[in-house]
This record gives sequence, structure tokens and C-alpha cells, in this order.
Amino acid sequence: MFDVFRDVLLNPLSWQYGVLLNRFSDLTNLKQCLTALGYTNLLPQTTHPESQSHTTPIPLQCFIHRDPVRIPTQGHHPGWLKQYYLLNAASLLPVLTLDVKEGENVLDLCAAPGGKSLAILQTATPGLLHCNELDKHRHDWLLKTLESYFPPTLRHLLSVTHLDGRSIGSVRPGAYDKVLVDAPCSNDRSWLYTPDTHQGEMWLKERTQLPLLQKELLCSALAAVRPGGVVVYSTCTMSRAENQSVVEAVLASYPGVELLDLEQQLIDSLSDHFYFAHPSAGQLVIPQKGKTWGPMYVSRLRRIY
Ligand code: SAM
Repeated sequence: MFDVFRDVLLNPLSWQYGVLLNRFSDLTNLKQCLTALGYTNLLPQTTHPESQSHTTPIPLQCFIHRDPVRIPTQGHHPGWLKQYYLLNAASLLPVLTLDVKEGENVLDLCAAPGGKSLAILQTATPGLLHCNELDKHRHDWLLKTLESYFPPTLRHLLSVTHLDGRSIGSVRPGAYDKVLVDAPCSNDRSWLYTPDTHQGEMWLKERTQLPLLQKELLCSALAAVRPGGVVVYSTCTMSRAENQSVVEAVLASYPGVELLDLEQQLIDSLSDHFYFAHPSAGQLVIPQKGKTWGPMYVSRLRRIY
């Protein structure tokens, strides 16, 4: 299985791309064009997105192709909203697991470049979406993403900061209904391309420090969520040390927190497209030939008190 995974990641020409539609933009003809090109919807569309009531969840519209075709990215034009965002479709799993409801206060702790913030806004209209990113350059990139996809009339729902995510739990304790920790990780796709040089050595050193940073970010998220609220932890690595070991260590040390399974209905609805492994504390999407989505690890925790 690991050989297949490595072969897929070492062959970018085999990678598939998801096309996440932007419900705030003019989508005239786009769905028909994608369908004509052989794209299908990742998720079953039970209700028409334009006829949503206030309470029904908005179906995420992500189009995928069984072949590694890629449509062009759209350029940034001030005042115009982009119609779609290209992404690894497995990166929608943390957002679908977070399951944001209308009016909830949400924190995206490590948000740049903004793919998951954007996906959250496709599934519901939160009361507040606080997007945070430590790195200044990436924070500016995040601002640009939000500006490109989200209408000015709704921007009062967004708050964007560049703080160290490890401090937010103590600055805003219990302030959010849901928190996403899409943690900095050793990113298996980039890692396999790291040249065997000084940069590679630096990455190796940083990599050993990641589990501590990830635990601190997850603890901060648990402090930031209200009792009864949900935290989703995700990475795009298959490293056990950065996935289930982080979650298990935090569960052992942080009082009043329980591990929740991901919804079986969600896993079932994605199983035709994603290859799931079932590690001890969460779910892991592993890239396979013809199903190159992932890697993506997701775990769901609830703060009890
Ligand atoms: N969620 C993003 C998306 O879907 O587009 C990707 C997030 S990326 C996996 C992790 C991000 O965490 C990086 O942009 C990194 O700069 C940021 N980061 C690293 N350390 C951080 C910290 N201490 N606090 C907040 N963000 C941090």
C-alpha cells in the first residue's frame, strides 16, 4: 500500500484536482461545461443549492474527474468573484466533519491560504468566521483568497488575524462553537520533492519539532471552543507521530475532552472516491492509483466541560 502511495505522490501527472464551486459567484454555464468535460459531483446533491431554507445545510458543490485533468486557475480581478477553487478534494473532509451550522461562531486556527475557510463558507453562513494565520506573507495570501471569493456585503462575518494560534485559547477562552485545526505538518506531497541538501536538513529538523507544535495548537483550540463545542484536527501527512499520536497525547492530558467518530454516513458517501484507512483516533485518506486524493488525516473531538 505504501509503495502505491509513494508512486502516486512522485507522479504529479497522475494527480486529480477537485473544482470547488463558489456559491457567491455567477455560475451560469459552469456546471454544464464541467459535466460536458466528464466531471461529476463529489457529494450527492439532494437539494437545489439556490433553494435552501434558512436551516437546511447547503450542499457543497465540488466537481471531480476520474482522470488527472486540470482546468486553469482563475486570475484575481478586484471587484469580481471567482467561480471556483482548485483543490485536493480530500481537504474537504475536515470541513464536512466540522459540519458548521447557520449562525455558529467558528475559528479556523491555521487558515492560509484559505481553502478550508472558503469551503466552510460554502456549507453555511456562520455568525462569525475567524480566520487566523501566523505567517505574515501567508496571512496576506489568505486576505486575497477571501476577497476573491466572498462578497463585500458579507465581509462583516469575517475576522482575519495573524496571531500565534497557540495563544488564541487563552485570549478567547470558550468563544467558539467550532474550531478547525488544519495543522502545519510535514506535508507528504511537498516532502517527497525536497532536494537532498541543506533545505532538506532544515525540514528534517523542523519535522521533529512538529508534534509538539501540533499538540499546543490542539490544546489552544480546545480552550477556545465552548463546552459542548467541537474541534476538528487535520493534517495532510500519513505520519502517525503527527496524527493519532498527537490526538491521543492531548486526550490523555486534557481533562473533559472526548473523541468522536466521524459520521458513518459521511464516510459511506465518500468511499466511492476516497480510499479510507482507519487509524486508532480518526480517519485517513490515502492516495491510490486512480483515486489520488489525500493524504488527509481527520480527527473530531468534543469539549465536554
Ligand atoms: N487550512 C489551510 C487551507 O486549507 O488553505 C492550510 C493550512 S496549512 C496546512 C498550515 C498553516 O499553519 C500554514 O499556513 C502555517 O503558516 C500556519 N501556522 C504555522 N504555525 C502556526 C501557528 N503557531 N499559529 C497559526 N498558524 C500557524
